[in-house]
Amino acid sequence: MNSRIALLPDHVANQIAAGEVIQRPASVVKELLENAVDAQAQTIQLIIKDAGKTLIQVIDDGMGMNSTDIRLAFERHATSKINVAEDLFALDTKGFRGEALASIAAIAHVEAHTRTEEDEVSHYLKIEGSKVIDQTLSTQPKGTSIAVRSLFYNIPARRNFLKSDNVELRHVIDEFQRVALAHPEIKFLFFNNGNELFDLPPVSLRKRICGIFGSKWDKQLVPSEEATSLAQLKGFVIKPEFAKKTRGQQFFFVNNRFIKSPFLHHAVATAFEGLLRPGYHPGYFLYLSVDPKTIDINIHPTKTEIKFEEEQSIYAILRSAVKHSLGVFQVMPTLDFDHSTNLDVPYSFKEKVPSPPPIEVDSSFNPFHTLDTPTKRQKEAWTNVLSGVQIESTIQPIQKEALMQVPQSTRVFQLFLKYIVCPLQTHMLLIDQSRAHQRVLYERFLSSITAKKGLSQQLLFPVEIELNPQQVEVYHQNKDILESLGFQLKLDKDNTLEILGSPEHCPSSKIEELMETLLFDAGEDRSVEHFSQADQIAKTLARSLAIKSGDPLELEEQQSLLDDFFGCKETSISPFNKPIFITLEKTEIEQKLN
Ligand code: ADP
Ligand code: MG
Repeated sequence: MNSRIALLPDHVANQIAAGEVIQRPASVVKELLENAVDAQAQTIQLIIKDAGKTLIQVIDDGMGMNSTDIRLAFERHATSKINVAEDLFALDTKGFRGEALASIAAIAHVEAHTRTEEDEVSHYLKIEGSKVIDQTLSTQPKGTSIAVRSLFYNIPARRNFLKSDNVELRHVIDEFQRVALAHPEIKFLFFNNGNELFDLPPVSLRKRICGIFGSKWDKQLVPSEEATSLAQLKGFVIKPEFAKKTRGQQFFFVNNRFIKSPFLHHAVATAFEGLLRPGYHPGYFLYLSVDPKTIDINIHPTKTEIKFEEEQSIYAILRSAVKHSLGVFQVMPTLDFDHSTNLDVPYSFKEKVPSPPPIEVDSSFNPFHTLDTPTKRQKEAWTNVLSGVQIESTIQPIQKEALMQVPQSTRVFQLFLKYIVCPLQTHMLLIDQSRAHQRVLYERFLSSITAKKGLSQQLLFPVEIELNPQQVEVYHQNKDILESLGFQLKLDKDNTLEILGSPEHCPSSKIEELMETLLFDAGEDRSVEHFSQADQIAKTLARSLAIKSGDPLELEEQQSLLDDFFGCKETSISPFNKPIFITLEKTEIEQKLN
């Protein structure tokens, strides 16, 4: 029998290796930026087109490569950063696997110019799919410029797997921010499709954070520092009162390398315990320096995971340092512990006209063919519910039947500040107040978006929010949807977003946070879920503005909520796929009490 085993040709091996290291344009950005940092550049420029799908170019003024090194750089396991295995335990560079450039060259068209201090000319190299196409001399300044085009041109499956430009750009921005935050001493520039997204001069860490996220961050940061023989910690935590509902600002760096660590996060989260309102997340920019010998960063090919030798001690150091800084800077007393949930009621139902239980029946009415005024619609929807006609929904037959009965009394009541109990002839409904209201608002917002005429309220005092470049991108992509919901928006040249009007019933005290959540959620990668941007925004808005569990409701408020709710197209599940109500049969009760 012939032998079956053969060594894979290099270009195939490189393609396979590339699969691990390069998942999307952002992975290329990360590798190229890290190489520029390792080359001791003082200025690094990132230029991309179409979120990196068309072009990713990094230009640095670092040490460059000579003619031999530039050829070797694209070979697999070619690195200048380690020689012997022991070096792995004393790393002070980002790279060390010698895989990145070889991987990139295997799956893209690459052009590189590079020049060392000593060389009088620069070297140019062009590679496509691991094959050198051209190599000549060129006349570039000291440093290295690497341009990567047509990423995944020879792996269609990968290329098709890429997400929208919006999502890919977000990943690129994430990687860029991580490197820029790890090196405030380096100047960074970043252009996408010719637009400057970031221009970050060399500054202190605090200023770098503000340069990336906006100057208003300055007052939100509390320094956190600690020095022990095991580890040094520096950085900032975000004061609890500025905590966000999103997890955007959680950054750990170990020896200036961005790290994802649920373990370290836990240490910080426990330090914040009791200081955050439910649903809010701590924000932090924390930098640990440890002896490279005591960590293993080798456990993940993209090097964002880490193992510490002295895990427990690192945990304790981190927790106590963060606690200490929260205490020392007297962050705690500014928190309002007596914050009444009452104040969180999104809008006052009292302003609404209470709708009396209707008496006449209009069987020709279909609430979903028109966009009538809410009050008229509610009234007629109740009529339909009570008279058992025209309930168009996808609810289960049994639930549909449950809704189609004449109530014994229109008196409803609130239970546990969470449910509304609605007694009917042969059973009762137990309705989750928050989910029912989410449903109402969600459908209302969706029809505003479709009809492009959401009711808007002018704000007495316009709200101003400073957007970071990432938010600006998301804003441009979703401006129309936001406006159709009733937002009146104006973006100034300095990226300040002025909110002049908001959807009806949106309390102005909540607008800033709401807009930030909207811009965050709209930029999230949810392509797996197959929901549109509009749908996502309607959901976010509904969740933010809906009545919450724990909110006390007056009788009219309960009734008006049910009016609106029974007028919904869908009554069985909330926009987040949770059941909205259950029924309790009279017979069930009788059996139990038998
Ligand atoms: P690694 O960074 O793990 O060593 P890479 O494939 O990323 O592997 O790079 C291979 C080698 O090419 C590096 O070790 C370095 O010597 C050289 N190199 C890569 N990028 C640059 C750059 N921008 N400036 C100078 N040298 C570079
Ligand atoms: Mg590298």
